[in-house]
Amino acid sequence: MKVLVINAGSSSLKYQLYDMRDESVLASGRVERIGMDSSIVTHEPPGKPEVRSVSEILEHTTAVRRVIDMLVDPNVGVIANMNEIDAVGHRVVHGGEAFKQSVIVTPEVKLEIKKLFDLAPLHNPAHMMGILAVEANLPEVPQTVVFDTAFHQTMPRESYLYPIPMVLYRRHKVRRYGFHGTSHAYVSAQAASFLKQPLESLKLITCHIGNGASCTAIKDGKSFDTSMGMTPLEGLMMGTRSGDLDPAVVPFVMNKEDLSVSEVNSMLNKHSGLQAISGLSSDMREITEAIGEGDKNAKLAFDMYTYRVRKYIGAYAAAMNGVDTIVFTAGVGENSSVLRKAVCEGLTFLGLELDEERNNARSKEVRFITKDTSRVKVLVVPTNEELLIARDTYALVNEQSEASL
Ligand code: ADP
Repeated sequence: MKVLVINAGSSSLKYQLYDMRDESVLASGRVERIGMDSSIVTHEPPGKPEVRSVSEILEHTTAVRRVIDMLVDPNVGVIANMNEIDAVGHRVVHGGEAFKQSVIVTPEVKLEIKKLFDLAPLHNPAHMMGILAVEANLPEVPQTVVFDTAFHQTMPRESYLYPIPMVLYRRHKVRRYGFHGTSHAYVSAQAASFLKQPLESLKLITCHIGNGASCTAIKDGKSFDTSMGMTPLEGLMMGTRSGDLDPAVVPFVMNKEDLSVSEVNSMLNKHSGLQAISGLSSDMREITEAIGEGDKNAKLAFDMYTYRVRKYIGAYAAAMNGVDTIVFTAGVGENSSVLRKAVCEGLTFLGLELDEERNNARSKEVRFITKDTSRVKVLVVPTNEELLIARDTYALVNEQSEASL
């Protein structure tokens, strides 16, 4: 079975085509600047040079058409015709309380996703455009949706409710949902299989640290608490997002600086975090380089960032009454040995002994970065959200076809 994984944004669409026999990636790529005059399609067949084409792509249906054209192209394509695409899996950011797992797309599912537009106004409408665009191009092909929030639907009420009037939860579903669920689910399963222990027997803290960042406490194989909240702004300090702050700061700053709701939203989401404190960049590579050159603001940004990761690990160890294994993943978590060292150095009270050599080694494999004697293990686990979407899609479509036999 061949599964096409799609991550549709408002002006972009990323894709990967998997052959599920061996979970190999046949091709990947992206369409950028949808709706603008010079849209760019970049197609990357593994082992071959990437192909770029510039044209006018005004909406998502044409974008999907162009992706299919690339996949079946006699020169750069990887399949003979579009009938080889057996299923399409979509990443959807917000599943609210309606979706506790991945599902096959039906008219009812589309209606539910629409109802959630309010909770994820930047993401869910774009995902819906992706679903409709696939439907227009491949009407016979089953589609699935895999939600960033679904993994966290197991959180108990004391984790997900905010201590504000309950009427806001009842009326507007104001609560913690958590994000990066696909990644936390994937790396926790990878960690358990690497440790050769059942996931249900472990107390894990997974730290997904990329441009966006979140920590999750995983107990009995389930998400028990997570640092992102109703939106992906809460929790850790991030590249351009503030993470946690006193909520009273918001009305105070709006009043003093005469800011509108959208201006304050933009300040907290796009002009805060590493970027704001360093005055330099939201990219951890540039921050680390600047620290090497003696930049004090970059150092302060790094110290605040790592301090907050450590604080969440401490909090989640307390929340679960212990922790066996900590996992680092995503762009920064997988690649920045200095970040991992800075976080782990303050966790010796847990019985964590970092192994410098293991921490500095470069690898794309799952690996320990603690000493063999360390009571708490720390792993680096490369994440792969697209693969998990492809696996869920494969399983759901198989289940459906077996049920219809
Ligand atoms: P996203 O949240 O957009 O999926 P990623 O998980 O791809 O992001 O992470 C991207 C971030 O990873 C970049 O902004 C960069 O700061 C960081 N990164 C990538 N490589 C390194 C590295 N070698 N050292 C430090 N940070 C890195």
